[in-house]
Amino acid sequence: MREHFDILIIGAGPAGLSFARSLGGLPLKVLVLERSSQATLSEPLEDGREIALTHLSVNIMKEVGAWQRLPKDGVSPIEGAKVFDGESSYSLDFDRDSADLEALGYLVPNHLIRKAFYEEVATQKNIEVRTESVVENVSTDDECGYVTLTSGEVITASLIAAADTRFSEMRRKMGVSATLRDFSRTAIVCRMEHTRPHNQTALECFHYGRTTAVLPMQGKRSSVVVTVNSRDAHKYADMSEEAFNRNIEKQLQGMLGEMTLLGQRHVYPLVAVHANQFVAKRFALIGDAAVGMHPVTAHGFNLGLRGQATLANAIESAIADNRDIGSEEVLKIYETTHMRISRDECCGGLVHP
Ligand SMILES: Cc1cc2nc3c(=O)[nH]c(=O)nc-3n(C[C@H](O)[C@H](O)[C@H](O)COP(=O)(O)OP(=O)(O)OC[C@H]3O[C@@H](n4cnc5c(N)ncnc54)[C@H](O)[C@@H]3O)c2cc1C
Repeated sequence: MREHFDILIIGAGPAGLSFARSLGGLPLKVLVLERSSQATLSEPLEDGREIALTHLSVNIMKEVGAWQRLPKDGVSPIEGAKVFDGESSYSLDFDRDSADLEALGYLVPNHLIRKAFYEEVATQKNIEVRTESVVENVSTDDECGYVTLTSGEVITASLIAAADTRFSEMRRKMGVSATLRDFSRTAIVCRMEHTRPHNQTALECFHYGRTTAVLPMQGKRSSVVVTVNSRDAHKYADMSEEAFNRNIEKQLQGMLGEMTLLGQRHVYPLVAVHANQFVAKRFALIGDAAVGMHPVTAHGFNLGLRGQATLANAIESAIADNRDIGSEEVLKIYETTHMRISRDECCGGLVHP
Protein backbone atom coordinates (compact mmCIF):
# COMPACT_ATOMS: atom_id res chain seq x y z
CA MET A 1 0.00 0.00 0.00
CA ARG A 2 1.34 3.42 -0.94
CA GLU A 3 1.32 6.12 1.71
CA HIS A 4 -1.09 8.96 0.92
CA PHE A 5 -1.06 12.55 2.20
CA ASP A 6 -3.35 15.50 1.53
CA ILE A 7 -0.41 17.79 0.76
CA LEU A 8 3.19 16.87 0.03
CA ILE A 9 5.83 19.62 0.07
CA ILE A 10 9.18 19.07 -1.64
CA GLY A 11 11.94 21.09 0.07
CA ALA A 12 12.24 22.33 3.66
CA GLY A 13 13.87 25.67 2.89
CA PRO A 14 12.22 28.80 4.28
CA ALA A 15 9.43 28.65 1.65
CA GLY A 16 8.56 24.97 2.15
CA LEU A 17 8.66 25.25 5.95
CA SER A 18 6.61 28.46 6.09
CA PHE A 19 3.98 26.87 3.83
CA ALA A 20 3.90 23.76 6.02
CA ARG A 21 3.47 25.96 9.11
CA SER A 22 0.58 27.86 7.46
CA LEU A 23 -1.18 24.50 7.05
CA GLY A 24 -0.70 23.67 10.75
CA GLY A 25 -3.94 22.88 12.58
CA LEU A 26 -5.97 22.40 9.38
CA PRO A 27 -7.73 19.05 8.90
CA LEU A 28 -4.99 17.93 6.51
CA LYS A 29 -2.20 15.36 6.64
CA VAL A 30 0.93 17.13 5.41
CA LEU A 31 4.35 15.66 4.55
CA VAL A 32 7.53 17.66 3.92
CA LEU A 33 10.40 15.87 2.15
CA GLU A 34 13.89 17.34 2.47
CA ARG A 35 17.23 16.26 1.03
CA SER A 36 19.37 17.48 3.95
CA SER A 37 19.72 16.03 7.44
CA GLN A 38 17.66 16.65 10.55
CA ALA A 39 20.70 18.32 12.17
CA THR A 40 20.93 20.77 9.25
CA LEU A 41 17.28 21.75 9.73
CA SER A 42 17.35 22.02 13.51
CA GLU A 43 20.69 23.90 13.66
CA PRO A 44 21.16 25.48 10.21
CA LEU A 45 24.57 27.02 9.60
CA GLU A 46 25.02 30.70 8.96
CA ASP A 47 25.07 31.12 5.15
CA GLY A 48 25.91 34.80 4.76
CA ARG A 49 22.37 35.71 3.71
CA GLU A 50 20.92 38.46 5.87
CA ILE A 51 17.27 38.80 4.90
CA ALA A 52 15.65 42.24 4.85
CA LEU A 53 12.04 41.58 5.86
CA THR A 54 9.10 43.86 5.08
CA HIS A 55 6.38 44.66 7.61
CA LEU A 56 4.03 42.31 5.75
CA SER A 57 6.53 39.46 6.17
CA VAL A 58 6.96 40.25 9.85
CA ASN A 59 3.17 40.10 10.27
CA ILE A 60 2.95 36.75 8.46
CA MET A 61 5.73 35.39 10.68
CA LYS A 62 4.06 36.76 13.83
CA GLU A 63 0.72 35.16 12.95
CA VAL A 64 2.26 31.69 12.96
CA GLY A 65 4.63 32.25 15.91
CA ALA A 66 7.90 32.09 13.91
CA TRP A 67 8.79 35.73 14.61
CA GLN A 68 8.51 35.16 18.37
CA ARG A 69 11.09 32.35 18.07
CA LEU A 70 13.83 34.64 16.71
CA PRO A 71 16.49 35.56 19.29
CA LYS A 72 16.31 39.28 20.14
CA ASP A 73 19.95 39.84 19.14
CA GLY A 74 19.21 38.32 15.71
CA VAL A 75 16.77 41.05 14.62
CA SER A 76 18.07 44.46 13.52
CA PRO A 77 15.78 47.33 12.52
CA ILE A 78 16.60 49.17 9.30
CA GLU A 79 15.67 52.76 10.09
CA GLY A 80 16.99 54.47 6.98
CA ALA A 81 18.68 53.89 3.63
CA LYS A 82 21.09 55.95 1.55
CA VAL A 83 21.88 55.34 -2.10
CA PHE A 84 25.14 56.76 -3.51
CA ASP A 85 26.12 57.07 -7.15
CA GLY A 86 29.85 56.86 -7.95
CA GLU A 87 32.18 59.13 -5.97
CA SER A 88 29.48 61.74 -5.31
CA SER A 89 28.81 62.50 -1.64
CA TYR A 90 25.15 63.25 -2.46
CA SER A 91 22.76 60.46 -1.63
CA LEU A 92 19.16 59.53 -2.24
CA ASP A 93 17.79 59.12 1.29
CA PHE A 94 14.88 57.11 2.70
CA ASP A 95 14.02 57.31 6.36
CA ARG A 96 11.43 55.90 8.69
CA ASP A 97 10.27 59.34 9.88
CA SER A 98 9.05 60.36 6.44
CA ALA A 99 7.42 56.93 6.11
CA ASP A 100 6.03 57.32 9.67
CA LEU A 101 7.21 53.88 10.74
CA GLU A 102 9.19 52.37 13.61
CA ALA A 103 11.57 50.93 10.99
CA LEU A 104 11.62 50.57 7.19
CA GLY A 105 12.13 46.83 7.66
CA TYR A 106 14.10 44.31 9.73
CA LEU A 107 17.28 42.41 8.98
CA VAL A 108 17.35 38.76 10.11
CA PRO A 109 19.93 36.06 9.23
CA ASN A 110 18.52 33.42 6.90
CA HIS A 111 19.61 30.53 9.14
CA LEU A 112 17.61 31.97 12.06
CA ILE A 113 14.49 32.25 9.87
CA ARG A 114 14.89 28.62 8.81
CA LYS A 115 15.42 27.48 12.41
CA ALA A 116 12.38 29.42 13.67
CA PHE A 117 10.08 27.90 11.03
CA TYR A 118 11.47 24.41 11.61
CA GLU A 119 10.80 24.68 15.35
CA GLU A 120 7.26 25.93 14.66
CA VAL A 121 6.55 23.12 12.20
CA ALA A 122 7.75 20.58 14.78
CA THR A 123 4.93 21.73 17.11
CA GLN A 124 2.22 20.92 14.52
CA LYS A 125 0.64 17.50 14.91
CA ASN A 126 -0.66 17.29 11.33
CA ILE A 127 2.76 17.90 9.74
CA GLU A 128 5.57 15.41 9.31
CA VAL A 129 9.06 16.34 8.07
CA ARG A 130 11.19 13.55 6.60
CA THR A 131 14.87 14.40 6.20
CA GLU A 132 17.51 12.76 3.99
CA SER A 133 14.67 12.10 1.56
CA VAL A 134 15.54 13.04 -2.00
CA VAL A 135 12.71 13.33 -4.49
CA GLU A 136 13.69 11.98 -7.88
CA ASN A 137 10.46 12.25 -9.82
CA VAL A 138 7.03 13.80 -9.70
CA SER A 139 3.89 13.31 -11.80
CA THR A 140 0.20 13.99 -11.40
CA ASP A 141 -3.14 12.90 -12.87
CA ASP A 142 -6.79 13.85 -12.29
CA GLU A 143 -6.96 11.89 -9.03
CA CYS A 144 -3.61 12.58 -7.32
CA GLY A 145 0.09 13.37 -7.46
CA TYR A 146 2.92 10.81 -7.28
CA VAL A 147 6.37 11.42 -5.85
CA THR A 148 9.20 8.92 -6.30
CA LEU A 149 12.15 9.04 -3.90
CA THR A 150 15.68 7.95 -4.78
CA SER A 151 15.01 4.97 -2.48
CA GLY A 152 12.35 3.86 -5.00
CA GLU A 153 9.46 4.55 -2.59
CA VAL A 154 6.36 6.16 -4.13
CA ILE A 155 4.16 8.48 -2.04
CA THR A 156 0.88 9.98 -3.25
CA ALA A 157 -0.86 13.25 -2.35
CA SER A 158 -3.91 15.25 -3.39
CA LEU A 159 -1.65 18.27 -3.94
CA ILE A 160 2.11 18.54 -4.42
CA ALA A 161 3.94 21.82 -3.71
CA ALA A 162 7.52 22.16 -4.95
CA ALA A 163 9.79 24.50 -2.96
CA ASP A 164 13.01 23.01 -4.32
CA THR A 165 15.09 26.14 -5.13
CA ARG A 166 15.18 28.45 -8.12
CA PHE A 167 16.76 25.64 -10.16
CA SER A 168 13.72 23.46 -9.37
CA GLU A 169 14.05 19.98 -10.86
CA MET A 170 10.38 19.36 -10.06
CA ARG A 171 9.35 22.37 -12.15
CA ARG A 172 11.17 20.83 -15.11
CA LYS A 173 9.78 17.34 -14.46
CA MET A 174 6.24 18.77 -14.47
CA GLY A 175 6.94 20.48 -17.81
CA VAL A 176 6.54 24.00 -16.46
CA SER A 177 8.70 26.44 -18.40
CA ALA A 178 10.57 29.31 -16.75
CA THR A 179 12.37 32.44 -17.86
CA LEU A 180 15.91 32.61 -16.52
CA ARG A 181 18.26 35.53 -16.52
CA ASP A 182 21.91 34.89 -15.84
CA PHE A 183 23.38 38.27 -14.89
CA SER A 184 26.95 36.96 -15.13
CA ARG A 185 27.36 38.73 -11.83
CA THR A 186 28.22 37.30 -8.46
CA ALA A 187 27.50 38.49 -4.93
CA ILE A 188 30.20 38.10 -2.27
CA VAL A 189 28.50 38.38 1.11
CA CYS A 190 30.02 38.59 4.59
CA ARG A 191 29.71 40.17 8.00
CA MET A 192 32.00 43.04 8.99
CA GLU A 193 32.70 45.03 12.13
CA HIS A 194 33.42 48.76 11.91
CA THR A 195 34.65 51.57 14.14
CA ARG A 196 31.90 54.09 13.30
CA PRO A 197 28.17 53.51 13.98
CA HIS A 198 25.80 52.77 11.10
CA ASN A 199 22.85 54.43 12.83
CA GLN A 200 20.70 51.52 11.61
CA THR A 201 21.01 52.90 8.07
CA ALA A 202 21.53 50.72 4.99
CA LEU A 203 23.98 51.97 2.34
CA GLU A 204 23.96 51.13 -1.35
CA CYS A 205 26.98 52.41 -3.29
CA PHE A 206 26.90 52.09 -7.09
CA HIS A 207 30.31 52.26 -8.68
CA TYR A 208 31.34 51.48 -12.22
CA GLY A 209 30.95 47.69 -12.63
CA ARG A 210 30.47 47.12 -8.90
CA THR A 211 27.85 47.63 -6.20
CA THR A 212 28.53 47.57 -2.47
CA ALA A 213 25.54 47.23 -0.17
CA VAL A 214 25.81 47.49 3.60
CA LEU A 215 22.96 46.34 5.82
CA PRO A 216 22.94 47.28 9.52
CA MET A 217 23.12 44.49 12.09
CA GLN A 218 23.16 44.97 15.85
CA GLY A 219 26.05 47.01 17.32
CA LYS A 220 28.85 48.19 15.04
CA ARG A 221 28.39 45.25 12.68
CA SER A 222 26.98 45.06 9.18
CA SER A 223 26.27 42.60 6.41
CA VAL A 224 28.27 43.58 3.34
CA VAL A 225 27.23 42.51 -0.17
CA VAL A 226 29.69 43.17 -2.99
CA THR A 227 28.25 42.52 -6.45
CA VAL A 228 30.72 42.28 -9.34
CA ASN A 229 31.08 40.69 -12.76
CA SER A 230 31.47 36.93 -12.22
CA ARG A 231 34.92 36.93 -13.86
CA ASP A 232 36.16 39.18 -10.99
CA ALA A 233 34.39 37.36 -8.14
CA HIS A 234 37.37 35.19 -7.14
CA LYS A 235 39.46 38.35 -6.65
CA TYR A 236 37.14 39.54 -3.86
CA ALA A 237 36.48 36.08 -2.46
CA ASP A 238 40.15 35.13 -2.28
CA MET A 239 41.99 38.39 -1.52
CA SER A 240 43.64 38.53 1.93
CA GLU A 241 41.43 39.66 4.79
CA GLU A 242 43.57 42.75 5.22
CA ALA A 243 43.24 43.73 1.54
CA PHE A 244 39.48 43.04 1.62
CA ASN A 245 39.04 45.23 4.71
CA ARG A 246 40.89 48.14 3.09
CA ASN A 247 39.01 47.63 -0.17
CA ILE A 248 35.60 47.92 1.52
CA GLU A 249 36.74 50.94 3.57
CA LYS A 250 37.71 52.66 0.33
CA GLN A 251 34.43 51.79 -1.37
CA LEU A 252 32.53 53.27 1.56
CA GLN A 253 34.80 56.33 1.57
CA GLY A 254 35.42 55.78 5.28
CA MET A 255 31.74 56.30 6.18
CA LEU A 256 31.89 53.41 8.69
CA GLY A 257 35.54 53.91 9.70
CA GLU A 258 37.89 50.93 9.82
CA MET A 259 36.32 47.71 8.56
CA THR A 260 37.15 44.18 9.82
CA LEU A 261 35.91 40.95 8.26
CA LEU A 262 34.03 38.63 10.65
CA GLY A 263 33.97 34.99 9.59
CA GLN A 264 33.95 33.76 6.04
CA ARG A 265 32.93 35.27 2.70
CA HIS A 266 30.08 33.46 0.88
CA VAL A 267 29.77 33.51 -2.90
CA TYR A 268 26.42 33.54 -4.76
CA PRO A 269 26.31 33.63 -8.59
CA LEU A 270 23.23 35.66 -9.56
CA VAL A 271 20.53 34.04 -11.66
CA ALA A 272 16.93 35.26 -11.57
CA VAL A 273 14.09 32.91 -12.49
CA HIS A 274 10.38 33.43 -13.14
CA ALA A 275 8.24 30.36 -13.83
CA ASN A 276 5.76 31.00 -16.64
CA GLN A 277 3.04 29.17 -14.70
CA PHE A 278 2.91 28.64 -10.95
CA VAL A 279 0.49 25.70 -11.07
CA ALA A 280 -0.22 22.55 -13.06
CA LYS A 281 -2.57 19.63 -12.43
CA ARG A 282 -2.50 19.02 -8.63
CA PHE A 283 0.85 20.82 -8.49
CA ALA A 284 2.04 24.24 -7.29
CA LEU A 285 5.41 25.98 -7.29
CA ILE A 286 6.25 28.11 -4.27
CA GLY A 287 9.21 30.18 -3.06
CA ASP A 288 12.22 30.53 -5.36
CA ALA A 289 10.92 27.61 -7.47
CA ALA A 290 8.14 30.02 -8.59
CA VAL A 291 10.13 33.28 -8.56
CA GLY A 292 13.82 33.51 -7.72
CA MET A 293 14.81 37.16 -7.60
CA HIS A 294 18.05 39.15 -7.77
CA PRO A 295 19.14 39.51 -4.08
CA VAL A 296 19.67 43.25 -4.51
CA THR A 297 15.87 43.61 -4.69
CA ALA A 298 15.81 42.13 -1.11
CA HIS A 299 12.46 40.69 -2.11
CA GLY A 300 12.90 36.97 -2.81
CA PHE A 301 11.85 35.52 0.51
CA ASN A 302 9.36 38.34 1.14
CA LEU A 303 7.62 37.35 -2.08
CA GLY A 304 7.86 33.64 -1.31
CA LEU A 305 6.35 34.17 2.13
CA ARG A 306 3.48 36.15 0.66
CA GLY A 307 2.89 33.52 -2.03
CA GLN A 308 2.71 30.58 0.36
CA ALA A 309 0.24 32.52 2.54
CA THR A 310 -1.96 33.12 -0.54
CA LEU A 311 -1.92 29.42 -1.41
CA ALA A 312 -2.59 28.36 2.20
CA ASN A 313 -5.55 30.78 2.40
CA ALA A 314 -7.01 29.40 -0.85
CA ILE A 315 -6.68 25.88 0.57
CA GLU A 316 -8.29 26.87 3.87
CA SER A 317 -11.27 28.41 2.02
CA ALA A 318 -11.59 25.27 -0.11
CA ILE A 319 -11.77 23.11 3.03
CA ALA A 320 -14.43 25.42 4.51
CA ASP A 321 -16.52 25.09 1.30
CA ASN A 322 -15.90 21.35 1.02
CA ARG A 323 -14.04 21.76 -2.30
CA ASP A 324 -11.12 19.67 -3.59
CA ILE A 325 -7.88 21.31 -2.29
CA GLY A 326 -5.93 20.25 -5.37
CA SER A 327 -8.50 21.41 -7.94
CA GLU A 328 -7.65 23.81 -10.75
CA GLU A 329 -10.15 26.31 -9.37
CA VAL A 330 -8.29 26.51 -6.03
CA LEU A 331 -4.79 26.57 -7.53
CA LYS A 332 -5.75 29.30 -10.00
CA ILE A 333 -6.62 31.65 -7.12
CA TYR A 334 -3.00 31.34 -5.99
CA GLU A 335 -1.54 31.62 -9.48
CA THR A 336 -3.56 34.68 -10.51
CA THR A 337 -2.81 36.60 -7.30
CA HIS A 338 0.86 35.67 -7.08
CA MET A 339 1.54 36.21 -10.79
CA ARG A 340 0.10 39.73 -10.56
CA ILE A 341 2.18 40.58 -7.49
CA SER A 342 5.39 39.10 -8.87
CA ARG A 343 5.02 40.76 -12.28
CA ASP A 344 3.56 44.15 -11.29
CA GLU A 345 5.41 44.87 -8.09
CA CYS A 346 8.71 43.11 -8.54
CA CYS A 347 9.15 42.46 -12.27
CA GLY A 348 10.32 39.03 -11.19
CA GLY A 349 13.76 40.49 -10.48
CA LEU A 350 14.53 39.76 -14.11
CA VAL A 351 15.05 43.36 -15.08
CA HIS A 352 17.66 44.28 -12.51
CA PRO A 353 21.07 45.20 -13.97
C1 LIG B 1 22.97 36.75 -0.99
C2 LIG B 1 21.47 36.68 -0.88
C3 LIG B 1 20.77 37.65 -0.18
C4 LIG B 1 19.37 37.61 -0.09
N1 LIG B 1 18.71 38.61 0.57
C5 LIG B 1 17.36 38.61 0.62
C6 LIG B 1 16.65 39.66 1.29
O1 LIG B 1 17.25 40.61 1.82
N2 LIG B 1 15.28 39.61 1.33
C7 LIG B 1 14.59 38.57 0.77
O2 LIG B 1 13.35 38.56 0.85
N3 LIG B 1 15.24 37.56 0.13
C8 LIG B 1 16.60 37.56 0.03
N4 LIG B 1 17.25 36.54 -0.62
C9 LIG B 1 16.45 35.45 -1.23
C10 LIG B 1 16.12 34.31 -0.24
O3 LIG B 1 17.31 33.84 0.37
C11 LIG B 1 15.42 33.20 -1.03
O4 LIG B 1 14.28 33.74 -1.67
C12 LIG B 1 14.96 32.04 -0.13
O5 LIG B 1 16.02 31.49 0.60
C13 LIG B 1 14.33 30.94 -0.99
O6 LIG B 1 13.82 29.92 -0.16
P1 LIG B 1 13.25 28.56 -0.80
O7 LIG B 1 12.74 27.77 0.36
O8 LIG B 1 12.37 28.84 -1.94
O9 LIG B 1 14.51 27.84 -1.44
P2 LIG B 1 15.87 27.23 -0.79
O10 LIG B 1 16.30 28.04 0.40
O11 LIG B 1 16.78 27.13 -1.94
O12 LIG B 1 15.43 25.79 -0.24
C14 LIG B 1 15.12 24.71 -1.07
C15 LIG B 1 15.17 23.39 -0.27
O13 LIG B 1 14.74 22.32 -1.10
C16 LIG B 1 15.57 21.19 -0.86
N5 LIG B 1 15.53 20.34 -2.06
C17 LIG B 1 15.88 20.68 -3.33
N6 LIG B 1 15.67 19.67 -4.19
C18 LIG B 1 15.18 18.64 -3.44
C19 LIG B 1 14.78 17.32 -3.77
N7 LIG B 1 14.81 16.86 -5.02
N8 LIG B 1 14.32 16.51 -2.77
C20 LIG B 1 14.27 16.97 -1.49
N9 LIG B 1 14.64 18.23 -1.13
C21 LIG B 1 15.09 19.05 -2.10
C22 LIG B 1 16.95 21.79 -0.58
O14 LIG B 1 17.78 20.90 0.13
C23 LIG B 1 16.57 23.04 0.22
O15 LIG B 1 16.52 22.79 1.62
C24 LIG B 1 18.65 36.56 -0.73
C25 LIG B 1 19.35 35.57 -1.43
C26 LIG B 1 20.74 35.62 -1.52
C27 LIG B 1 21.48 34.56 -2.31
